[in-house]
Amino acid sequence: MKENSYNKYSDWHDILSNSINRAEDLEKYMPVDKSVINSVTEFYPMRINPYYLSLIKNKADHIWKQAVPDLNEIEDKSGFDDPLCEESQSPVPNLTHRYPDRVLFMVSNQCAVYCRFCMRKRKVGHPFIVSDSTINTGIDYIRENKTIHEVVISGGDPLLLEDDAIDRILKDLRSIKHIEILRLHSRVPCTLPQRITKKLVAILKQYHPLFINTHFNHPDEITAEATLACAALADAGLPLGCQTVLLKGVNDNPSVMQTLMKKLLTIRVRPYYIHHPDVVRGTSHFRTTIKEGLCIMRSLHGHASGLCVPQYMIDLPGGGGKIPLLPEYIKSVSDGKIMVENFKGEIFSYPE
Ligand SMILES: *Cc1c(COP(=O)(O)O)cnc(C)c1O
Ligand code: SF4
Repeated sequence: MKENSYNKYSDWHDILSNSINRAEDLEKYMPVDKSVINSVTEFYPMRINPYYLSLIKNKADHIWKQAVPDLNEIEDKSGFDDPLCEESQSPVPNLTHRYPDRVLFMVSNQCAVYCRFCMRKRKVGHPFIVSDSTINTGIDYIRENKTIHEVVISGGDPLLLEDDAIDRILKDLRSIKHIEILRLHSRVPCTLPQRITKKLVAILKQYHPLFINTHFNHPDEITAEATLACAALADAGLPLGCQTVLLKGVNDNPSVMQTLMKKLLTIRVRPYYIHHPDVVRGTSHFRTTIKEGLCIMRSLHGHASGLCVPQYMIDLPGGGGKIPLLPEYIKSVSDGKIMVENFKGEIFSYPE
């Protein structure tokens, strides 16, 4: 792997604009199959910024798998472009209103890296999906619907917008009386931590209560840079959560997942969800079984601090929403007592 230094870039814009999006450029750093990459990127764009590229140590390692296009993305005939029916539950473009009290609001279709497993593969990186006009329409919808108490600002990655655009969106949402909680979903603390500048943090901290959920999938993503970014956010009073995606060949392993969850806690990020991968076309090579997911959860409960045990979620096809899955700890229910199994596999009787 040829050495790649991102330190020569002056700021996050500069890092981002030097991202790799063509097979020819990736080949300068590592041997790749150019024809495969070119055929995949006709449908699903590639973007690997120099910082994230620097985390790749070997061909086909866990960082590579998340960022480098794979032939299966276009050969996979299983799944759906939009299994969760985000579009049909969209009263206005780029806003999904599934739960009565909260909405998912897409304000950017750009990301610092285009993750190959993305559940919004159909949208991210494609031109003209998000505009000032869709953002304004979304804000109007939220203003008019008083049952909404929380806005999940998502994308793409909202933190790829410029500071003043982020400031304006947060200010507009904060000015709506019935909005209590703001939540921002961003992968930049992991994929482009340089984006978390002093200026950005100063903007964000004006809009409390503002929660940030980020997205780390492997312990090797928790670098010195990511640690600094999360510290800056946490110091500004922004509670940090993490939504990890269970991915075959990346983190589908109890020991890797346990290390990741424990390391997240040390950088003040509280694991929130582990998502079972959705049935999205072009991502079947990342899919594991629910059984494996439950086995990983069993390796966390009791074995790791409760602070670093997230909920394991499946998102129901057809837009039914998310539900948590738990390993079966109740062995039987009878005559006023239940039989349960503890984390060591020992059986106990507990009065009902
Ligand atoms: C995931 C999701 C949310 C947020 O759900 P939480 O369980 O509160 O994290 C809201 N709206 C939509 C459409 C979602 O998919
Ligand atoms: S950062 Fe999130 S939205 Fe963007 S490509 Fe990755 S998973 Fe998808």
